[in-house]
Amino acid sequence: MNEPAPGSRLVVPGELLGTAEEYVPGRGTYENDGRIFAALLGRSRIDAASRAISVRALHEVPALNEGDLVLGRVSDLKSAMAIVELLAEYPSGRTVPGNPEGTIHVSKVKDGYTDSLADEFAAGDIVLSRVLQSRPGVKLGTVGPSLGVVSARCHQCHAVLELSRNGKELVCPRCGRREHRKMAERYGGLPSPAPG
Ligand SMILES: [Zn+2]
Repeated sequence: MNEPAPGSRLVVPGELLGTAEEYVPGRGTYENDGRIFAALLGRSRIDAASRAISVRALHEVPALNEGDLVLGRVSDLKSAMAIVELLAEYPSGRTVPGNPEGTIHVSKVKDGYTDSLADEFAAGDIVLSRVLQSRPGVKLGTVGPSLGVVSARCHQCHAVLELSRNGKELVCPRCGRREHRKMAERYGGLPSPAPG
């Protein structure tokens, strides 16, 4: 006898969704003894292509989409990419569940050639970037005047860096050190959201 197909419906934790022969256990589910159960209160869904069955929590913020703007913190610099911890969607300010990571490839930092990522970003910088690709991994870019670093700290003394008089570099108000970043034009703040 076949189990009723779960489709998209409200399920409670521990509810039987199907068997491991019918479905692949996805996010929000667990498998026990060949049977797949809901791990949380939410809505079930089946991906027709992969036969993956998953449960989405009711309060979950929708996943990021291409074109969305996000605020993140640079956590590491590799030779060809910056690793960014995603903090919030902009301008809604909604947090991104689980603080996933995204990457900025060296070719997506600014218009033109970027010689070294270390000249444009540093670990700890707060960056406003655009989502170029949301799946499977989040890829980000900071090309354009409104995107880039919006807050950074001095390498030497950790004070928050300020814009220099000519607006082309950053200067430390405490120790005078000068640093360069791929800055957003509104460094020290955030652009006003587009009307409407
Ligand atoms: Zn300093």
